[in-house]
Amino acid sequence: MLPNIDTNYLIQFLTDLLNIHSPTGFAEPAVAFVEKELSQFKQLQLTRTRKGALAAKWEVESDLPPVALTAHVDTLGAVVKQIKRNGRLKLSRIGGVEWPTVETEGVWIFASNGQKIRGSVLVKTASGHIFGADMTKTPRDDDHMEVRLDARTLSKEETRALGINIGDCVAFDPRVEVTNGFVRSRFLDDKACVANVVSAIKSLADAGQSPTRTVYFLISNYEEVGHGASAGIPSDVTELLTVDMAVVGSGQESDEFNVTLCIKDAGGVYHEGLNKKLRALAEKHGIPYKTDVYRYYSSDGEAFWRAGGDVAVALIGPGIDASHNYERTHTDSLVATTNWILAYLLSE
Ligand SMILES: [Zn+2]
Repeated sequence: MLPNIDTNYLIQFLTDLLNIHSPTGFAEPAVAFVEKELSQFKQLQLTRTRKGALAAKWEVESDLPPVALTAHVDTLGAVVKQIKRNGRLKLSRIGGVEWPTVETEGVWIFASNGQKIRGSVLVKTASGHIFGADMTKTPRDDDHMEVRLDARTLSKEETRALGINIGDCVAFDPRVEVTNGFVRSRFLDDKACVANVVSAIKSLADAGQSPTRTVYFLISNYEEVGHGASAGIPSDVTELLTVDMAVVGSGQESDEFNVTLCIKDAGGVYHEGLNKKLRALAEKHGIPYKTDVYRYYSSDGEAFWRAGGDVAVALIGPGIDASHNYERTHTDSLVATTNWILAYLLSE
């Protein structure tokens, strides 16, 4: 029997985490939030990597070798590339943001002087009364999209005077909504999985249980640019369970109600032996799961492999519809993922 999952806690923690802006390179507030949450569990030894990721070690007496789990807290975002003559901002994207997915979205500019300035993303030809049907023909690219600031500025100088500089962080609104068990938000990738990991730790702690072996949890902060977990996992670890979103949509087997085991993605094929072990655990505990193959996707587990990590790597995660866009999942998928993590942590 697996310990109970506090679903309300899971969804509340996820909602709070989603509402903290954390584009790659600017993820510290979200890392600190997870750190504070995990600090209530005295079983964990918390440390930071030099790169800023959060490492939590749950040490237990066991002859079994230690294992690791990872999930990432950084998200897509942007930085200010240029302040234009009209006072608006040209952006440089972080990670795989595609412009149509953020057109008209609200943003915060985190100015280097500490100020937060509000704005929104628009195509240059935004007014229907000026451009009519031509508006739809404008390419949505770095040169044709801009940020209109909710501040009095019509010039480069006035925008500079607001405190905005080149390289300042720009974060897109997540727009979190929870309805009928569905969670709709940007950046469920991969905050949903951070919530799964934290909620699994809480379930064990609440039940007075411990993992069967020493576990290292790595909350990584550079996944969206490809090297999150390339450092931060100790060399005595034999298995790395990567927890990251499953791809839902046309042609995919994953859905928003099951948890998925990814067999292959663009970064290669995962570890057959660890996959078998995970499938056996799912069967044993009645965890609803799918297997799937992802096309434009690679994970922190593969980042660790590429960095020379000598471990078995597998990838599981909840189904996220419209990934890297306005995403959505369902509580059932989050619960199934958390249960699989628990089954793994309690396995021999
Ligand atoms: Zn991800």
